[in-house]
Amino acid sequence: MTTLPASTNRKMGLVIDLDTCVGCHACVVSCKGWNTENYGAPLSDQDPYGADPTGTFLNRVHSYEVQPLATSAMPHPAAQLVHFPKSCLHCEDAPCVTVCPTGASYKRVEDGIVLVNETDCIGCGLCAWACPYGAREMDAAEGVMKKCTLCVDRIYNDNLPEEDRVPACVRTCPAGARHFGDLGDPDSDVSRLVADRGGMDLMPEQGTKPVNKYLPPRPRDTLDEVDILAPLLAPVAEEPKGFLGWLDRTLERL
Ligand code: SF4
Ligand code: SF4
Ligand code: SF4
Repeated sequence: MTTLPASTNRKMGLVIDLDTCVGCHACVVSCKGWNTENYGAPLSDQDPYGADPTGTFLNRVHSYEVQPLATSAMPHPAAQLVHFPKSCLHCEDAPCVTVCPTGASYKRVEDGIVLVNETDCIGCGLCAWACPYGAREMDAAEGVMKKCTLCVDRIYNDNLPEEDRVPACVRTCPAGARHFGDLGDPDSDVSRLVADRGGMDLMPEQGTKPVNKYLPPRPRDTLDEVDILAPLLAPVAEEPKGFLGWLDRTLERL
């Protein structure tokens, strides 16, 4: 494994492009696969082939149908599907870390990755209660908390080919909708992407300062498409509550 110097401003994280995500769930499957085969005990499933299956997933994709507002140019806009992948955002001010009574939850100094030391986790669930994003997963079989590790066992793994030293979800995404890098470096590819595309914090009013960023859907250029997405996009830029707030408000208007 590569050893990192401590005391840097490194903030490793993901940038997720809501414009190009097609909701295929490949990232969900690859995350579950990698973290079951390589990260301690498997991520458990309960009743996986039964009527009410549940399980532990470190990455989930939620899909929402939203209805664009009517405009004079598009009085009857078609409903849109928005696919929204969600995993731990590796917050700078992570409430899941501060509430943990045993110190099992921690944020690494060297790269900002938030992890759980499972041997110290007592399964109290306080961190899941504190996380405003619902990004923690109690493993029902083990009784310990799991979460996205940013694939810390891949990204510094000298035994893997260089092209595989990225998170499994990033490596797998067929749409190129997931990007990985150092968001503490303003010149990194991910930081430039966020600057160019107006990348957003999820629910910034929570004060958690997430490292991960979301890229909003882009307005389409062609006359046929522009009025479908443009009404949806305007509130993203105008209102402070981030994507989900905007989504809530959009749904309230139905
Ligand atoms: S997204 Fe939730 S689990 Fe992840 S660091 Fe932030 S508060 Fe903690
Ligand atoms: S970075 Fe790794 S652990 Fe996190 S969502 Fe992606 S595949 Fe899962
Ligand atoms: S693999 Fe890529 S396109 Fe498919 S759901 Fe995940 S982020 Fe979206």
